[in-house]
Amino acid sequence: MVKHTPSSMSQHPPPEAAQTLLALMHAQGEVARLSEREQLFSALLDSVNAVLWAFDWESRKVLYVSPAYERIFGRPASLLLADYNEWRSSVYPDDLEYAERSLAEVLVKGAVEDREYRIMTADGQLRWLSDKCYINQQTDGDQGVIVVGIAEDITENKQLQGELQRLATTDVLTQSSNRRHFFDCARGAFEKARQDGTALAFLLLDIDDFKQINDTYGHPTGDHVLLRIADSGKTVLRRGDLFGRIGGEEFAAMFPDCTPEMAQHVAERLQREIQRLSFSHDDQTFGVTVSQGLTGIVDSDETLDSLFARADAAMYQAKRQGKNQIVLG
Ligand code: GH3
Ligand code: MG
Ligand code: MG
Repeated sequence: MVKHTPSSMSQHPPPEAAQTLLALMHAQGEVARLSEREQLFSALLDSVNAVLWAFDWESRKVLYVSPAYERIFGRPASLLLADYNEWRSSVYPDDLEYAERSLAEVLVKGAVEDREYRIMTADGQLRWLSDKCYINQQTDGDQGVIVVGIAEDITENKQLQGELQRLATTDVLTQSSNRRHFFDCARGAFEKARQDGTALAFLLLDIDDFKQINDTYGHPTGDHVLLRIADSGKTVLRRGDLFGRIGGEEFAAMFPDCTPEMAQHVAERLQREIQRLSFSHDDQTFGVTVSQGLTGIVDSDETLDSLFARADAAMYQAKRQGKNQIVLG
């Protein structure tokens, strides 16, 4: 017969006690694993440079916001968790109507992924956010609607996009619109004038004897002349007029809501402004003149091409007639 000593009894406890102990150990292991997982999630969320958020639609309460919120918004998360209006007041006022409307669209669409708006950080910086949102699919029937989202700071991308856009549309030397951008805008203005039945004038300007300026004073001086002429154009034109460098020494302008007769006053001012310019190279000073061709929409068959062709013909007539003049075509 086996004798149970106290020590051998502790090695073989009764079955119920063993089960309780095992369950306890299992639970402890589970808690440890969950805590590890929570720490992992928390570390992950902390390192992601995007704000993850959850919002209870009915109660208008922010249920969760990840640590990046404080970094990107520059505001304490506790204020947002206490009151959803904290988000509203961080949105740039011009974008608030859009930000709220696009958020509400998630109820109909289930997902809104192209939402971009600006926020103001607590220290007054403007930031661009891409804030995608989704209806939480795991919500069961009797729970209200939970919207979840991910907001990323896209300020740098936006700045880069703006810079690329500027480079793609601007003439590097004169900083005026380049040919393609000028005609893109001109097409828009032309179509609007045709639709509204309003007047519109179009002008082409070509520098007289520019080759001779280059040959006499050198290419860099020629560049300086181009720059000053573009500046004169920008000074004389009114708000809403379009101006661009469309060729080597050729510029164009479009005057919405303006008859050719009215535009002629602007062209004359430009002619005088350019005549007043004075350039110097070594010890020599010199001036420059331009020839301009001006026209406007005449009938319902008009196209941008026909308008351009008439202004071009008028400009060449100005050249043939001795340059330094404006011809109305
Ligand atoms: P016209 O009075 O008949 O217009 O004669 P023009 O000499 O102005 O015309 P032409 O077309 O013979 O010469 C234009 C010159 O413009 C030739 C070209 O070298 C110069 N040019 C074009 N682009 C630039 C530029 O970016 N910088 C400089 N400095 N010159 C340029
Ligand atoms: Mg030319
Ligand atoms: Mg010329």
